[in-house]
This record gives sequence, structure tokens and C-alpha cells, in this order.
Amino acid sequence: MPATVIVGAQWGDEGKGKIVDLLAQHSDVVCRYQGGPNAGHTIVRDGETFKLHHVPSGVLYEGKVCVVGPGCVVDPELLVRELDELEARGISTADLRVSGNAHVIMPWHVAIDSASERRLGQLQIGTTRRGIGPAYADKSARIGIRVQDMLDPKILRQKFETALAEKNEILVRVYRAAPLAVEDLAERVETLAARLRPYVADTSLLVDHALNEGRRVLLEGAQGTLLDLDHGTYPFVTSSNPTAGAAATGTGIGPTRIDTVVGVAKAYVTRVGEGPFPTEIQGADHARVRELGAEYGTTTGRERRCGWLDLVALRFAVRVNGLTSLAMTKLDVLSAFPELPVCVRYRLPDGNETSEFPAHQSDFHHARPVYESLPGWEESLDDLGDLGDLPAAARRYVAFVEDALGVEVCMVGTGPDRERILTSRGLAAVAGSA
Ligand code: GDP
Repeated sequence: MPATVIVGAQWGDEGKGKIVDLLAQHSDVVCRYQGGPNAGHTIVRDGETFKLHHVPSGVLYEGKVCVVGPGCVVDPELLVRELDELEARGISTADLRVSGNAHVIMPWHVAIDSASERRLGQLQIGTTRRGIGPAYADKSARIGIRVQDMLDPKILRQKFETALAEKNEILVRVYRAAPLAVEDLAERVETLAARLRPYVADTSLLVDHALNEGRRVLLEGAQGTLLDLDHGTYPFVTSSNPTAGAAATGTGIGPTRIDTVVGVAKAYVTRVGEGPFPTEIQGADHARVRELGAEYGTTTGRERRCGWLDLVALRFAVRVNGLTSLAMTKLDVLSAFPELPVCVRYRLPDGNETSEFPAHQSDFHHARPVYESLPGWEESLDDLGDLGDLPAAARRYVAFVEDALGVEVCMVGTGPDRERILTSRGLAAVAGSA
């Protein structure tokens, strides 16, 4: 049975957590393939809120195998805290597996992340300052520390000595921060390693076996398409590849093992941090969308910038991910508006209009949205059974998106709770098992 990928189709925070949580019910294995603890997922279950950072949302179901894949970076301290919190709330973590090839976020990564953002001043990227970018940078520079290194005290000390010889110089001389001591750090990490050891596994093999046995595998991306290191709005991007192609490398399977890619997009757009944002809403509607959509960061509490739906950017997401369907979240937030602008093209500085995402950053910087205005429905989306029950104007909104993108909207979110989702063909079918 081929695997299914879930990927954010905008700038992250699309409500992927809820969609993954729903599809996880119909999956046997849920695997995260990139990102670190910046990726806060919020899942509301029976009125209880779970904020997950490292652990895939499948953990909330008993018996689902949850995997942190080799494409992820792991902060051992945060992971242990997250495991302790889940266990304290009666959620078993026994079926979690962490790839030995995942890279580890160390205190110097956090210190450098914070210090370098401060130095960038106005040019700062808006990172969550959790050391994720510096950990991926060290991975690429081949001086990173992997989860498997934590399990061998001798190797760990050697790697710390090599790393700190350079990192302490940088911390002290460039950032005027305090140096780190090898022995203190090694002792701290060894304690964490003892706690994490039972979870460490060859997760590539595990997923391969699961697929061979016909088990249903869900590959979960963090952040979103426009934050992709290669395809996003560089440099205001994350330091890994959320796009669907990375689901294969970040898990350790071949692309031929995947046949379904579900993109998750809000019915509008949000963006955290800096960078161009053509459909950013001006005036009072901005605050209304933010309040109605509760648009504040899960990990940071930062206010999100809000915009009208951008079909140029979504078309790009369809292309670079090969989306086979779209889950549209938070349609209920738009119930408050009598008219809904939808961006169908960008107007470029040379006066030309395009429906394709600009390949050059300066074109994107100066792109102005060309809107079509769709009528709102101005009624509640509570108590609906399936997609056909949506008010006519809401159906029209969804159909407009499908027509523009050539992709089916298979799910529509109508409220924060997990029950508040309408589907076209049942969750099992969307999850790739039917
Ligand atoms: P994620 O990282 O992509 O999961 O996104 P967030 O952490 O920002 O979580 C999305 C938030 O939106 C959570 O609080 C969800 O409960 C909420 N949410 C998800 N789907 C819907 C929806 O259809 N309508 C509303 N109003 N809220 C939703």
C-alpha cells in the first residue's frame, strides 16, 4: 500500500495538526519527515488542547506507531519534556520511534540562533530561536551531532570537543556570549540519552516493512510550501524542505512508495514573521480575521499576519508538491464577511499580470494582488453533515478554488474541534486506504 503525504500548502499554520490527527485514525504509522520543535501542532480533542512540537499527532491514538524521521532535527531536552507531559496526561508514548540519523539541536545552536537574529536587526528572518536553523546548517557542513551519537559516551565527547572548539570561539568572539563546557554538556546529554534510548530505531526500515505489509503510512510535513528552503520565499523560509518530495528523503523511502499528497490550506492565508505577503489584509478586517481565526503562534504566541486567499500561491503549491487533493481549513472564519476577495493573479511592476507564482523574488516583492470578489454566506457553518450541506455561497467559494487549481477539495474545516470537518468521500478514502 503506498504512503500518503500531508503538506502545508501556504506559509504553515494551516491547521495540519487537525487534519493529520483525523487521517491518523485511518493510518497505522504516522511519520514526521522534516523540521524541529518550531512546528507546534495544536489538537483540540474532547475540549482538551494538546500542543505537540516533536511528536507526531498520531500519538494521541493508542497503537499507532509514530516516527520522528531522519529528516527532522531533535532537541532532546524538549523531546523528553514533551514525552513526560504526554505520559503525565495518560497518553502512552511506547510506540514512538526516533531515527538514529536525525540531527540533534544542541545548546550552542539555540544560543547562535538567538544571537544571530539579534545581529540581523531589521533584516531578521523571524526564526523561533530554537536552534533549528543552526542545527541544519551543521548537518550540511557535516559537523552535526546525530541522535545515534548521543548513545555512545565516547563518541559524544569527541564530537563535543570538535564542535565546541569552533562554536565557543563563535559564541565568545562574535556574539559575546558565554562559552560551553564539554563535560557539563556531555553529562546533561547522557541523562537525556538514557531516557531516549528505547525510542531510537532504524525508522527507514520500520516504514519500509510497514508498507510491505500493507499497513497505512502517513507522512506528515511541518511548516508549509512557501517556507521551503528551496522553493519558498527565501530567505524568509525554514531551514528544511516541507514540500512533498522531501517526504521520501526525510523518511528514508523512495518516491515511488507515495501516491497521495494532501495539501492543507486555510480558506484565507496567514504568515508569521517577515517577508512579502501580497494579499495581506489592510484595515479593520485584518484584526477581525486574526481574532476570529485565533491567529497567534502555537510555539511563540506571536501574532500572525492575515491575508485573503491567494490562488497564485496555491497553484504553486499544487505544482511543487504534486497535490492530489486539498483540505481547506477554517472556512468558518470567513462566515463573518459579506464579500470575500480571492486573489486570482498578480500584477507585476511591468504592468503584466500572471497567474503563476513569480520565479524571481523582486517580482514577488512587488506583486500586487488582482482580486475577484465572491459573495459571502454570512451564516454559521455549525451542524452540517457533509460538504453538500454548505450554504450555496460557501459551496461556490470551494468550487471556485477547485476550478482555479484543478484539484479537488476533499475536506473543509468548519471549526476548531476535530469533529468540525466536512468530507467529500470519507476520511478513510482521503487517508489513502480506500
Ligand atoms: P498547524 O501547525 O498547521 O496544525 O496549525 P496551528 O497550530 O495554527 O493549528 C491550527 C489551529 O486552528 C488549532 O487551534 C485548531 O484547532 C484550529 N483549527 C483547525 N481547523 C479549524 C477550522 O476548520 N476552523 C477553525 N475555526 N479553527 C480550526
